[in-house]
Amino acid sequence: MQHHQKPPARSGQQTPRRVAVLGSTGSIGCNTVEVLEHLGSGYEITGLAAAQSWEKLSQQARRTHPKVVALSHPTQDALAHLRGSLAAHKSIAVEEGAAALDHMVQRDDVDIVVAAVVGAAGLSPVLRAAKAGKWIALANKEALVVAGCLVMPLAQKHGAQILPIDSEHSAIFQSLRSGQASEIRRIILTASGGPFRTWSAEKAANATIAEALNHPNWNMGPKITIDSATLMNKALEIIEAHWLFGLPADRIEVLIHPQSIIHSMIEFVDGSIIAQLGTPDMRTAIQYAITHPARVAGCSTRLDWSKIKEMTFEEPKGRFPALELGFEVIRRGGTSGAVVNAANEKANELFRAGTITFGQIVATTQKVLHRHLTDGFIAQPTLTNLLAADQWARHAVLETIQ
Ligand code: MG
Repeated sequence: MQHHQKPPARSGQQTPRRVAVLGSTGSIGCNTVEVLEHLGSGYEITGLAAAQSWEKLSQQARRTHPKVVALSHPTQDALAHLRGSLAAHKSIAVEEGAAALDHMVQRDDVDIVVAAVVGAAGLSPVLRAAKAGKWIALANKEALVVAGCLVMPLAQKHGAQILPIDSEHSAIFQSLRSGQASEIRRIILTASGGPFRTWSAEKAANATIAEALNHPNWNMGPKITIDSATLMNKALEIIEAHWLFGLPADRIEVLIHPQSIIHSMIEFVDGSIIAQLGTPDMRTAIQYAITHPARVAGCSTRLDWSKIKEMTFEEPKGRFPALELGFEVIRRGGTSGAVVNAANEKANELFRAGTITFGQIVATTQKVLHRHLTDGFIAQPTLTNLLAADQWARHAVLETIQ
């Protein structure tokens, strides 16, 4: 991470930090708008973008008065409804199409891009924001999983700072203020273990959609909730940590911590362990990614120590096959991250549609990766190679399940 750069102006200074929120109607996006409304003066929303949810987008726009709103994948109806609902707000421009997001992040009146689009669809605007040297508050871990090899050098070259919103990575980022990256012995990413932590592998393999959507601690969107149940989310986070903090696979560990109070920690070379703790409330990490390096009064829920009975830990070793996929992607690099991400996205979607079993999500992703490593793997991919690998993996999932 680059800590030497001058951050955009903060609250109390003359120029406000101007923010574009991509994926503003999703779980992270809604929380981000809430945090920005809480922060108030010193922060301005320039742009809000969603895929299709015009109604929520319109409500947000009427409350926060951005300069532009965009629907990346609208139906004609959605677009007409959005325009109609904002007809009285002449100062708010309405744009459409995926290119509208690319355009939004490059605007001169945007300092911070909150990248909260779900999945590989969020990659293009993240690359554009990196190229434009913006401050990127990153919730879209898939962008790094797919294309960390392009995003990170691009950010470095153009002076774009990437601040993690993912709670584990925010915890590492905050703990890193106690030492240098070169002083890290290992990072320990905590994982709740999901709803099936205490289930047998056989029972979990046939879990229903409702059971998988019932996350014990965090309230999130459906894709990431299923990823948390399979622990693919943790596999993606292992890869994300590798890119954000420049760590090899043997310096990243996962520890099951069912209470989700410790959000992650760093063990430094001298043996000191620095952790970040809190309630499972995304607004803490979102706010820090926006106000960094300052801390200001937050709107998130507080830990009540009188209610915490215990903090427990379990070794995940051998119990969660998804985790090994994360480490394998770090070791292989190249197109492997794009393939694992896309195969998982597709399998996750097929599970939620009732087409495959819960157990097939990780099993299929493993098979597709191994097919790719035998044939088609590219060690130094271009963006075109990565997008082709993504498309191939989605088709390969469909072939594998037949
Ligand atoms: Mg996370």
